[in-house]
Amino acid sequence: MAFYSDEVIQELKQQTNIADIIQQFVPLKRSGAGRFVCRCPFHNDHSPSMNVNPQMGIYKCFACGAGGDVFKFVMEHEKMDFKAAVEWVASATGFQLPELGAPVTPEIAEERTLVRELNELAADWFVEQLPKSEKALNYIRTRHLSEETRHFFKVGYAPEGREGFLSYAAKNGFSPRQLVEAGLAVERENGGIADKFRDRLMFAIENLSGKVVAFGGRVLEKQKKPKYLNSPETALYKKGEILYGLSKAKNEIPKAGSVVLVEGYFDMISLYQAGVKNVVAVSGTALTEKHAEILSRYTKSAYLVFDGDEAGRKAALRTIEIVLPEGIVPKIVALSRPNGEKIDPDNFVNEHGASA
Ligand SMILES: [Zn+2]
Repeated sequence: MAFYSDEVIQELKQQTNIADIIQQFVPLKRSGAGRFVCRCPFHNDHSPSMNVNPQMGIYKCFACGAGGDVFKFVMEHEKMDFKAAVEWVASATGFQLPELGAPVTPEIAEERTLVRELNELAADWFVEQLPKSEKALNYIRTRHLSEETRHFFKVGYAPEGREGFLSYAAKNGFSPRQLVEAGLAVERENGGIADKFRDRLMFAIENLSGKVVAFGGRVLEKQKKPKYLNSPETALYKKGEILYGLSKAKNEIPKAGSVVLVEGYFDMISLYQAGVKNVVAVSGTALTEKHAEILSRYTKSAYLVFDGDEAGRKAALRTIEIVLPEGIVPKIVALSRPNGEKIDPDNFVNEHGASA
């Protein structure tokens, strides 16, 4: 029987937060130091006897002795074999498994590690650059983002100039070629390599485990084009499989019993900042079937809060067709000012607050 290589299994395990997986079957309670406890689903447990340690990627029941890694949990709980459990976990975390029979080579495993390390490095660097730019700071103020929110979502700034991040990454031991592979630099026509993102506000796009795997870069001045520039797809980033903000909102969605689906990065962040935390954005693409499948693991109820214009209305109608087959019941929220003027969610929450 064809099987996934050890490198793939390890990579998947590393990218998976075991608490997120177990939480989908058993409610977890925090027990300090980033650990969790729950009632053990493998014996008739009346007190929380099971410990879950996301840092080590393991669970252990101190009453009945059940324990192991994330795959073991899914196998035992869902009565799956190992291969099915691996596929289930991969699907739950948005991890791209290789075609069976085409095992992940050490080169691909290395590329994944590289993409992850470079994007994390870039995210921190962009966040540090923002306060150095008066223009970027002013822009952030007009969008009403607090300092805390900005850091929480790793909103940063890619400065003007072709080699800002290139030279910082070089100091950290990364070659220009590696930056191209990670989607952070581009080859120029004359053969040189330059930063991909320049003079843009940077939104860090995280996978479900909260690791930065890509960026969305927005212009600060309206007349510049394109308005948004996104990372290309890489070994870790498939844009049709990642929802912006889900890494932050994933525990809030089951609590709220619904998800609020918006179109833009700022819509997502503004609503979250205002206290509507069960919110995710479809950014850089239309909602895909894969997105809908991922959302359906958290809730069966979605509020589509799209822009009030014609394009937003059409996007909402398309989205309905995608979420219905996944058993998600959609409701469209059409926002407007008292005078009937259409308004987007970001401006609405800034003008009227979260309770409105
Ligand atoms: Zn037990």
